[in-house]
Amino acid sequence: MSNPGTGTGPGDLSAFIAGLPKAELHVHHVGSASPRIVAELAARHPNPAVPTDPEALAEYFTFRDFAHFIEVYLSVVDLIRDAEDVRLLTYEVARDMARQNIRYAELTVTPYSSTRRGIPEVAFMEAIEDARRAAESELGVVLRWCFDIPGEAGLESAEETARLACDLRPEGLVSFGLGGPEVGVPRPQFKPYFDRAIADGLHSVPHAGETTGPETIWDALTFLRAERIGHGTSAPRDPRLLEYLAEHRIPLEVCPTSNLATRAVPSLDDHPVTEMVKAGVLVTINSDDPPMFGTDLCTEYEIAARLLGLDAAGVATLARNAVTASFAPDHVKASLLAEIDAHLAAWSA
Ligand SMILES: [Zn+2]
Repeated sequence: MSNPGTGTGPGDLSAFIAGLPKAELHVHHVGSASPRIVAELAARHPNPAVPTDPEALAEYFTFRDFAHFIEVYLSVVDLIRDAEDVRLLTYEVARDMARQNIRYAELTVTPYSSTRRGIPEVAFMEAIEDARRAAESELGVVLRWCFDIPGEAGLESAEETARLACDLRPEGLVSFGLGGPEVGVPRPQFKPYFDRAIADGLHSVPHAGETTGPETIWDALTFLRAERIGHGTSAPRDPRLLEYLAEHRIPLEVCPTSNLATRAVPSLDDHPVTEMVKAGVLVTINSDDPPMFGTDLCTEYEIAARLLGLDAAGVATLARNAVTASFAPDHVKASLLAEIDAHLAAWSA
């Protein structure tokens, strides 16, 4: 849902954020399915677990804890049955991004979830690539992919994800990730699969420190050679880790509302983003699974601005951080940075 803001005049930070050209680095493909899309998919592929009425869906998307979130998420994954579902979902997600002035996004895609459900792998790759090209030319949204291992599915899924990433390598693929639960899913076991992806030229961006402590983030850095960390919420518990992240310019992909929804933080006011920024860590703001968490990227920027006490210039810095930390082509980075500067200059004038 979008935040209506408090006014439309100069000084209204909500309006500044809405018009700000943005990049998003941590947002999941299936987790971006809006209730309308989910309802459409549920109607096409009836599943008694998933309501088709958008109001009932909103209720369905209220999570008791992280395990419950994973359960609901997987029931939505189960609605993606054929390549046309994949193409529609991807393009519609880009449409929602365009509405928020998100101009570049690295979308975390879990191909294993689809190929093991019988969607032919080549058709899957064609569907996301087709949607990517259409999103760029028709909506002005540049998409890139992060293929992630669903941690809960074990090493077989890691092997398969690495194979799909390296052997089928769609043009838009830039990185390799690891998601799902962290408790009981140690990071070091995924080292061989990350080694393969990195050797193939992909960037390493695992989730870590979302529901476990800083040791998981160290593991992601040491064993998976993480270049960015998904969440990293527990990093501030280890000052030496914060120092390391700052010194080595390892960005964190911070998703405030997601952390609250999955109970990774007890309240937004308790979110450690302030400590991250104070320590000099490159912080980026993201929405993770926005419709499932009743949020969107603009709302996450507003929350970050409140927590960090930022004005328009400070918010523009957060937007620049995301561009800097991205794996976008240089010309996309340069033009986005220039547009952010122009938006701020116009606002300040
Ligand atoms: Zn995530």
